[in-house]
Amino acid sequence: MSPTTAAECLFCRIVAGEVPAAVVAETDRSVAFRDVSPQAPTHVLVVPRRHVANAADLAEASAEELSDVVALAGQVAVREGLAGAYRMVFNTGAGAGQTVFHAHLHVLGGRPLSWPPG
Ligand code: AMP
Repeated sequence: MSPTTAAECLFCRIVAGEVPAAVVAETDRSVAFRDVSPQAPTHVLVVPRRHVANAADLAEASAEELSDVVALAGQVAVREGLAGAYRMVFNTGAGAGQTVFHAHLHVLGGRPLSWPPG
C-alpha cells in the first residue's frame, strides 16, 4: 500500500513535468533526473513512470518496468563516465531512509564508495 497517492506524489509531478527537475535520460517507462541534494559527484534518481511505493511493489506490478529502471540506470552510469564503479540503491521504508514513496533507484558515483555504507 502506497503512503502517497499519485496526485500528491512529488516524483509523479516530476514525471508529469509539473515540478522542474534536471532530467538526464528517459524511456517510455522510466525517467532519470539529478538528485536535488547529491551525495556524490554523480547522483541520479531513476523512477518508473508508474506510481508504486517501492522496488518490490514495482517488481510485482511489472517486471518489465523494473528492468527498464535498472537498464536506464546502467546507461546513465556509462554516460556519466562512472566506468563500472558506481552504486545502485533502492531505499525501502522510512526506517531505511526512504522519504519519497514512489519507487526510485539511486545511482551514485564519482568518488570512492565505502562498503558497508554505514
Ligand atoms: P529516498 O530518501 O531514498 O526516498 O530518496 C529521495 C531522494 O529524493 C533524496 O535523495 C532527495 O534528495 C531527493 N529529492 C527530493 N526532492 C527532490 C526534487 N525535487 N528533485 C530531485 N530530487 C529530489
